[in-house]
Amino acid sequence: MKYSIFLFSISFLCLNASAQLRYTLKYQDSTSPVLKISIEPSSPLTAPVSFIMPRSVPGTYGVTFYDRFITNIYAINNRGEKIAMSKNENDAPRWIYADSGKQIARIEYEVNLNKIERNAAPSDASIIRPGFTGILNYSVFGWIEGTEKQHVQCTINTFDNWSIFSTNQPTTQLAKGSFEISTESYNVLADGQIFMGTNFRVKEFKGVTPLFVASYCQTENEWLDDYGLQETMSMKILKDYFGELPFQHYSVMLIKSLPLEPGNYPPFGMEHLNSSTFFGDTTSLRRSAMSLDEVKRTMPTFLHHMGHSLIPLRCYGDTYRPYVQEIPPIINNIWFNEGFMWFLPYDELKLPRMKTNFDNSVYNTSPEIKKLSLQQLSQAASTMYSADFRLGRGVYSRGALMAIEMNNYLKEKTGGKKSMKDVFRYLYQWSKKNNRPFTMEEFPLLINKACNIDLSKIYKKWQLPIE
Ligand SMILES: [Zn+2]
Repeated sequence: MKYSIFLFSISFLCLNASAQLRYTLKYQDSTSPVLKISIEPSSPLTAPVSFIMPRSVPGTYGVTFYDRFITNIYAINNRGEKIAMSKNENDAPRWIYADSGKQIARIEYEVNLNKIERNAAPSDASIIRPGFTGILNYSVFGWIEGTEKQHVQCTINTFDNWSIFSTNQPTTQLAKGSFEISTESYNVLADGQIFMGTNFRVKEFKGVTPLFVASYCQTENEWLDDYGLQETMSMKILKDYFGELPFQHYSVMLIKSLPLEPGNYPPFGMEHLNSSTFFGDTTSLRRSAMSLDEVKRTMPTFLHHMGHSLIPLRCYGDTYRPYVQEIPPIINNIWFNEGFMWFLPYDELKLPRMKTNFDNSVYNTSPEIKKLSLQQLSQAASTMYSADFRLGRGVYSRGALMAIEMNNYLKEKTGGKKSMKDVFRYLYQWSKKNNRPFTMEEFPLLINKACNIDLSKIYKKWQLPIE
């Protein structure tokens, strides 16, 4: 009896281990900027089978043509034969193996990272340098249609002496040569980032939750402790603001590289569920400790991007979604996602220059932008947020000024007892409880309910074009 239970549990374990969607990423040829990816479903799929690359990444508010960097894409059948997959005839970011009834064991393709870097915006690009590869997972991993909810086991294989760090499973005990990541779905895997190589460092800091700072700087090692300080301070501020943090660990990925092409490379950040990535050239690298004043002065971007782990990644409305998609949504409330989350650092750090920037981006901008209603501006920014950053700055600045005005009104009405902090907490708890996006109709009602104070006059005023 004992024996058979033992056998049963062994076979159950095996079944369980194989009932997985298996992703493999290989980088084992240092003369080439090409990664090899394979995706193997838990059991063979029956054609037609479609493979999709994301063109929409949450928080990018743009179109990223990650499908254009994919080459040599094949379906592999049960006999190991490679069959070319064909790209959609309308240039949608999908490929199909259409031979009805035939079985497919896996899909294989290649991604050229230099091609991504030369063609995508710096904050959308994965990069490769001597002794280093920095990967935004959604730039290299697509999905087989219908598998996006399945549990994922992902294996990374590289050179024996290369270390591997993943934001999905961060640690300072870096694996070498090979690393396994396990995620609850494709969407969680796609949200992550990977550093591989001999030329990056990882330092852990104690915060409200463990904080990992992973740094690659192409010319010299950066001074990391102030990043650690700014991020652990951000954790504390956000915990106080919302009453809790939504993550068990957090990673900051810093990439400072010499550009492949000459040009202007302003520093940019990108938020993820449990991490943020900061990109830039080496002009602003940190060589030594900063004064406390400088720590505070350069902190807004770190607090803002960590704050995105709450708004909008876990508290959002309208058509925004916190996962990658094939077609970018047109979003009516980017002013909430971005403006309210720029208000928070302003509310906490009280840096006057932030308010000046909001004012300038709203009142001293192009008449073309001023004549747009808030909703029209948000729609335009849905695909051109940073491509024409007047739109990005315009939409977040209007949202931030709206939040500032609401904050002042709440404080005035309650003798300082209520503020936007109560509104943020209410919205976050509402999202956690309801587990769905709020609608544009619900939003003004929800913010009124947060403190039982009517904010609709301010809300309506900010919906209009700028006089
Ligand atoms: Zn943002």
